[in-house]
Amino acid sequence: MPDTTCSHLSAVTTVKHPKRRECEECVKTGSDWVKLRTCQECGTTRCCDSSPNRHATKHARSSGHPVIASAEPGGRWLYCYPDDLTVEY
Ligand SMILES: [Zn+2]
Ligand SMILES: [Zn+2]
Ligand SMILES: [Zn+2]
Repeated sequence: MPDTTCSHLSAVTTVKHPKRRECEECVKTGSDWVKLRTCQECGTTRCCDSSPNRHATKHARSSGHPVIASAEPGGRWLYCYPDDLTVEY
């Protein structure tokens, strides 16, 4: 893992990947999403901010889980909400 200035990002030692490539919240309501993000605290996969429902951000706000990773093929980065920091890995 890269050196970071953020304790949330440096706490991620093994990046969690999506168990299923879908946003469960969107599936429930039949909504579309654009891209997917995986919470690095609990492994839940939700849709990105370009998606109409922005479930990844809502999950981070309501749970307090700080770090998400891209759940897209080839997307090798982590993002910390509280510190607004992105790192590649
Ligand atoms: Zn942080
Ligand atoms: Zn969603
Ligand atoms: Zn979470």
